Amino acid sequence: MRYQPVIGLEIHAELLTQSKVFCTCKNEFGGSENTRVCPRCSGLPGTLPLLNKNAVYLAAKAGFATDCTVNNYSSFDRKNYFYPDLPKAYQITQFENPICTNGHITVKGGKDIRINRIHIEEDAGKLVHDDYEGISMADYNRCGVPLIEIVTEPDFRSVSEVQDFVEQIALRLKYAGVCDARMEQGSLRVDVNISIMPVGSDTFGTRAEIKNLNSIKAIGRAIEYEIERQSDILDNGGTVVQETRRFNDNHGDTKSLRSKEEAHDYRYFPEPDIPPVLLSDEDIEEIKKSMPQMPQVRFARYTKEYGLPDDDAALIISTKEFSDFYDETVKINPDYKQVSNMMLVELNRNLNDLEKTINDVPFSPCDLAELVKMSTDGTVSKNAAKDILKIMFDKGGKPMEIAKNNGFIMDNDTSALEDVIEKVISENADTVQSYKEGNEKVFGFLMGQVVRAGGKGVNPKLAKDLLTEKLK
Ligand code: ADP
Ligand code: ZN
Ligand code: MG
Repeated sequence: MRYQPVIGLEIHAELLTQSKVFCTCKNEFGGSENTRVCPRCSGLPGTLPLLNKNAVYLAAKAGFATDCTVNNYSSFDRKNYFYPDLPKAYQITQFENPICTNGHITVKGGKDIRINRIHIEEDAGKLVHDDYEGISMADYNRCGVPLIEIVTEPDFRSVSEVQDFVEQIALRLKYAGVCDARMEQGSLRVDVNISIMPVGSDTFGTRAEIKNLNSIKAIGRAIEYEIERQSDILDNGGTVVQETRRFNDNHGDTKSLRSKEEAHDYRYFPEPDIPPVLLSDEDIEEIKKSMPQMPQVRFARYTKEYGLPDDDAALIISTKEFSDFYDETVKINPDYKQVSNMMLVELNRNLNDLEKTINDVPFSPCDLAELVKMSTDGTVSKNAAKDILKIMFDKGGKPMEIAKNNGFIMDNDTSALEDVIEKVISENADTVQSYKEGNEKVFGFLMGQVVRAGGKGVNPKLAKDLLTEKLK
């Protein structure tokens, strides 16, 4: 039988706050175990949580980044379960009244994936298993790190829709400064819920949940494996059980972790120690105003208004800093295509050579705008523009000054160039003779001699025309 997969996601993203969500411990990655813990986040009795305001703002920003409604009223609940990395034996989360609801993201192909909710919660600690000693240890550094959980409707029907969605979410959260979205470090973790149904059916099957996928590739492999596994079960007359499974990156398979808990297993109840979060319309408007323009909006502007090819636009938006630099540059010199070329080819070449990023560029968008203009209006040749850019990286300086100091200003003085060409012709009589006898290959050699004798300021087009003329 042929089956159609049905997929919904739950994505956990760590918020880029300075401190944890209910205490003042530092919110950081790495470091030695249990060095960022206090009585609150290690769950000692009698301590009270104190909500981090910035965590609320960042969660609201995540809502704006995904076209959600940011709610005036949201509140916290306790989700009770015992686990060694959760010392309080309950997790504070938002169950009844999440901060954001009803968003969507359009994936490749134009389909809208609905986002059911985004809620704030605290992360649990980590267990470190030492197989050699045969013991497990608890590291509480991650306890109380602020998270948002983004929950989609089961709207995905293919791996590529899921992967595109996750890539877009990661990029948007980075643009908004909500999360650094480093999947390999676990700051963005994806749980995939997947079921299958016969092609043509519209009754969803029973789903399995694959926890904590930490790369785009792992997401694809885990889904492919699950489709196979569930198809085999149904083809053999069995039934899929609702459960939580773990993907093993080395084996490329998934294994059952535990049967899926139902909401009532968690005995949710309102968190008595945290008052509801009340955001006024003005608060919400202010947060909205602080949002940078999102990458998909910039992509549409680059392709539709600026006429850039999709691939180039995609490269420009790949980081906010690169896109910001581009936007600042075209504000001064709206030669969209030429600025894009200069950045994607020459600027990136220099950054690669120097192993640097756009954040390290030692000159301003204004300087780059000027350089592009000098190249397009014929002040300097295309090749000279490349040399000038390299000097701007290596030694600094303004493009026009560099051009003047290095003799890069293109010389459009025809009579001076004619003198140079005549000199080259007389010094290379044999080659000229050979050209006149039909050996056109030597033209390039003669051009090279002209450029060498005339210096960096030679206008290549003018030189070519004049040389052709003189050789007749
Ligand atoms: P629960 O309350 O049991 O956690 P939800 O309705 O909140 O269930 O859904 C959890 C996740 O599972 C969501 O991402 C949702 O899109 C997805 N999901 C729900 N039903 C299915 C299904 N039949 N197949 C695949 N995914 C599903
Ligand atoms: Zn703490
Ligand atoms: Mg749920």
